[in-house]
Amino acid sequence: MSSVKSLQTEFPETIEIINKNPSYTYNEKNEKKKIIKDLLKKYDAKIVAHYYVDEDIQEIAEETGGFVADSLEMARFGAKQSSSTLIVAGVRFMGETAKILSPEKKIIMPVIEAECSLDLNCPYEDFKEFCKNNEDREVVVYANTSAKVKAIADWVVTSSIAVKLVEHLHSNNKKLIWAPDKHLGRYIQSVTKADMKIWNASCIVHDEFKSEALKKLKNENKDAAILVHPESTLDVIALADVVGSTSQLIRACKELPNKKFIVATDNRIFYKMRKSAPEKILIEAPTAGKGATCKSCAHCPWMAMNNLDNLINAFHSNKNQIYIDKNTQEKAFKSTNKMIEFAKNLV
Ligand code: SF4
Repeated sequence: MSSVKSLQTEFPETIEIINKNPSYTYNEKNEKKKIIKDLLKKYDAKIVAHYYVDEDIQEIAEETGGFVADSLEMARFGAKQSSSTLIVAGVRFMGETAKILSPEKKIIMPVIEAECSLDLNCPYEDFKEFCKNNEDREVVVYANTSAKVKAIADWVVTSSIAVKLVEHLHSNNKKLIWAPDKHLGRYIQSVTKADMKIWNASCIVHDEFKSEALKKLKNENKDAAILVHPESTLDVIALADVVGSTSQLIRACKELPNKKFIVATDNRIFYKMRKSAPEKILIEAPTAGKGATCKSCAHCPWMAMNNLDNLINAFHSNKNQIYIDKNTQEKAFKSTNKMIEFAKNLV
């Protein structure tokens, strides 16, 4: 991790900001936060962060009028902002979604290389071919896809509204293609009974939660409610008291009467859960089966790439900007905006 000193040397603008602020007498983390706050003001920028990024970034986003949310809320918030620049702390498809919805804004990311296994395993050319072979089907893609994949979809959805949207399409006799998350697809299919052709990809984090170990943990904590993100496998979902998107799980933690929760999603969500329900006890769902040595890998490696250092660097580097060609952006806007309009009618 770079020191504040090396950041100052690397980026003279930062020195300028520090010189104007003789009050920099905090420890290094707080100094970095002060630098970020000044840079946000200088560049008319807001941070939009996902629940799975480091809690320092979530904290600074909230302290500076930015936002911490799931991908649907991140997209909505970004589109409503008057700031000319958005710093999207998350993974690449989130930055692209922000650009799709706000093409006039400058979208920068702390780490442009932060990917998502769902996005990576749904390449545009292959998916286009798959759609071509199933032309009678409406194409519904999860938000965790590239802008090019969104551009050939009829609908984009996030986990918070996926069941409702598929229910709606199914009630209108639509047959569907679902991509890319097979676990979420199978879960939606089991709830809605819709006719869905499901792409074969999964989230490397949620794939790791193990049902046998989860049962054992539940036996040891009988009073705990189990909260599960639907990107997990069906046998883990079957053990859940609540299945939902990150926002829905945070709400459940606050609203359910249980004092204790076993949580099967990225463990950085604990920051928000603790803030909204400080009296609750949170336990990570086990990610290892019998005999495995790793008991706690519930954190996305790409989300983990975001930190205060690369957030500062992002202001100064031309490499951290998201660009999408106009044709792709316009097509992807249609399918993504349909999700936002559909979600409005649910509230
Ligand atoms: S947690 Fe899974 S779905 Fe979310 S960004 Fe990481 S790999 Fe993708």
